[in-house]
Amino acid sequence: KVLNFNAGPAALPRSVLEQAQAELVDFNGTGMSVMELSHRSGAYDEVHVQAKEQLKSIMNIPDTHDVLFLQGGASHQFAMLPMNFLHSNKVGYYVLSGSWSEKALSEAEKIGDTKVVASSKEDTYSHIPKELALDSLPNAAYLHLTSNNTIFGTQWGNFPDVNVPLVADMSSDILSKEIDVSKFDCIYAGAQKNLGPSGVTVVIIRKDWIKEANKAIPKILQYETHAKANSLYNTPPTFSIYILSLVLNWVEAQGGIGAVQRMNEQKANLLYDCIDSSEGFYKGHASKESRSNMNVTFTLPNKELTEKFLKEAKELGMSGLNGHRSVGGCRASIYNAVPLEACEQLVEFMKIFKGKN
Ligand code: PLP
Repeated sequence: KVLNFNAGPAALPRSVLEQAQAELVDFNGTGMSVMELSHRSGAYDEVHVQAKEQLKSIMNIPDTHDVLFLQGGASHQFAMLPMNFLHSNKVGYYVLSGSWSEKALSEAEKIGDTKVVASSKEDTYSHIPKELALDSLPNAAYLHLTSNNTIFGTQWGNFPDVNVPLVADMSSDILSKEIDVSKFDCIYAGAQKNLGPSGVTVVIIRKDWIKEANKAIPKILQYETHAKANSLYNTPPTFSIYILSLVLNWVEAQGGIGAVQRMNEQKANLLYDCIDSSEGFYKGHASKESRSNMNVTFTLPNKELTEKFLKEAKELGMSGLNGHRSVGGCRASIYNAVPLEACEQLVEFMKIFKGKN
């Protein structure tokens, strides 16, 4: 059995895959697969509505906010957000905490005025920027941040209090812990880490803010279009939304987001304890105060040992432990669906490997 530590697309709960398999050719007595159903049919509508309502309930999303199921991934949101809100000479403020924030910024730069309010680039993004000059953000369209930096393995603890619209790319830690959604005007996430398969992009957006968006852009790119049509303006990624609904059932069966959060903390602590007690054999890339509970990044003493580590891990069925090409080293992505036992086995292997080498 493979232990899946991939950064994304990532592990899905086994029970979700099994249910999807059982229902693949005949969904709910329709005699058709979910992916064969019309997106205007009652049978599909139930899936669609349930996924939305369940996400609202699990994440405690207030009625002030809408939930949209879009396509194009988080990368599409990098462009769609400024296209909607970076108008009338306003400024998009960005916190740079990794490559994904840089990509979000570079799309916004094409559309309007932007400003970087803080960056940890000089420290190879090993921490969330500390000095946040957020007291005065003149003429702000919004402040954008990346809640979890998948590549560097850092994660925001507390989100800043600001009096301008706050936007977060939560692609790699949505649904992993309790958050106060009301603090944000927009949260977006590609699904392929904690929510389900790639194909659906979840956007949680304050309804009042949508009204302030630019109406002079193509209809398909306006949040308002999708909000008005309940994400059925055009054909949504129906199969991905169906899997999302199964994942949400799974989260509820775990005891909800609080229980999932506690499990994630336990998993991450296991790995970080192993790194910290390895007498410098394993070194964490992220500063302790910025460590991510989703992506644990670490290095070994040299390239040869890193390659040997990855090779032996692979032989033991551990997949996806290589670090991102821009950072090197190793990365264990331990999203919601990665079981505690997988982390225990990885830690055991890390201890044995250190002992031998
Ligand atoms: N933002 C973050 C934090 C990510 O981790 C990723 C993908 O790994 C992206 C954005 C890009 O997402 P997508 O491939 O859905 O465009």
